[in-house]
Amino acid sequence: MPSDFASKMEGTAIENAQSWGSDVWDSLKVKLKAQLGDNTYACWIQPVTFGGLEGTVIKLNASTRFMRDWIHNNYGPLILNLWKELIPTLTDLDVVVNAEAAPLEPLSSGDLKPAEDSWESDSVDFSQAKDDVSIGLDPRYTFENYIVGKPNELAHAAALRVSESSSLPFNPLFLYGGVGLGKTHLMHAIAWRIRECHPTRKVIYLSAEKFMYQFIRALRFKDTVSFKEQFRSVDVLMIDDVQFISGKDSTQEEFFHTFNALVDQNRQIIISADKSPSDLEGMEDRLKSRLGWGLVADIHPTTYELRLGILQAKADKLQAHIPGKVMEFLAHKITSNIRELEGALNRIVAFADLVGREITIDMTQDVLRDLLRSNDRRVTIDEIQKQVAEYYNIRLSDMHSTRRLRAVARPRQVAMYFSKTLTSRSLPDIGRKFGGRDHTTVMHAVKKVEELIGEDPSLAEDLELLRKMLQN
Ligand code: ADP
Ligand code: MG
Repeated sequence: MPSDFASKMEGTAIENAQSWGSDVWDSLKVKLKAQLGDNTYACWIQPVTFGGLEGTVIKLNASTRFMRDWIHNNYGPLILNLWKELIPTLTDLDVVVNAEAAPLEPLSSGDLKPAEDSWESDSVDFSQAKDDVSIGLDPRYTFENYIVGKPNELAHAAALRVSESSSLPFNPLFLYGGVGLGKTHLMHAIAWRIRECHPTRKVIYLSAEKFMYQFIRALRFKDTVSFKEQFRSVDVLMIDDVQFISGKDSTQEEFFHTFNALVDQNRQIIISADKSPSDLEGMEDRLKSRLGWGLVADIHPTTYELRLGILQAKADKLQAHIPGKVMEFLAHKITSNIRELEGALNRIVAFADLVGREITIDMTQDVLRDLLRSNDRRVTIDEIQKQVAEYYNIRLSDMHSTRRLRAVARPRQVAMYFSKTLTSRSLPDIGRKFGGRDHTTVMHAVKKVEELIGEDPSLAEDLELLRKMLQN
């Protein structure tokens, strides 16, 4: 019967594809082993098996969820690119949990040397890898490339001080701020600078995620003694994104002991997180309190001036000529974070280059339509006035009134500021909505509020809250 025949054929094709895929995967594994080193290979890649080809997606099997996530996050692009060299039309790699197809057994501890070389590839230890800047630290993330403004000046000054000082000015240094505001950049800059100023200091920089991975690995291979030694023999320990170990009790416990041991020996610790120590949820109280012992420095949301400064610096670096108006436009519109701002700039420069189009505001609006839309929350001025008036407990009519009393004038300025930053209305438009004020009054209000954000943390907090309310 034809249908039988078809299914048989299909079955054979699938089997063939399966064995072909497994063969290819075996050959790619050899390449991966050479690139990643024996330990990393034995730990992560060797147990992974070929799972199939579905459309333009390559499937691989991993034995646990942790392995799946780890492989996906750390080796996904590398693996996909190797596959693409053979099948250029592939679009994605999908690692799935399939304990049967990817058993843990093939991992024999005999394949593993002591943790040494995976150590090097997972963290930066200058005393062992002096010239290899490619591991872990981004060469672009230096102090030279870090633009300083009101929102980050304290964090920047503190970072500079710990990296250059010959004593321990504060321990730990705890840097925190929202995503994409420059924490990792600052951490790398510290590591680079210490390397210049104090080349003999042993510095280790790693994310909290990697700290946890190494810890789990050490437990798994019963190698906790050398794990402890590695960490406890450093001069400077830098842990990025410490919030990652929230809720991970045994990693926290280990971190806490490492932390104490280092502080006792007068070694510098530098931590970054997305929240202040006391706001870190899922962290033990004793750890929170230790984290707050030294200097806690936060990075505030960006201001217009800082955004403009960053754009100018990045445009110079790219040697791109971008009209001032376009820069101002971007600095006004992309307020979310620096990563997005940078991405926007790269995109218009690349587009202009590829398509040969002049960079104008029109073109920018075109190219960045999606990004601008997500930054443009489409909240109306009326809504802003209402929310702000409620928040500050003043009458809505005061948004239009000429009363100059501070208790009224400041909220009005705040509302103007949000009207400018959260909507696409022009300054004259906004002025009209505020009782027919002049556009220069609006401009002044925006400037004033941006200044205050840098100076007054409690106002900055109020505004963050308001911003969140308005964006919902
Ligand atoms: P975070 O770690 O806080 O999420 P990153 O440090 O990864 O943020 O910063 C995101 C991007 O923005 C990086 O490319 C970084 O170089 C850039 N960046 C952040 N702050 C600054 C700054 N003050 N000057 C120049 N570039 C910055
Ligand atoms: Mg970061």
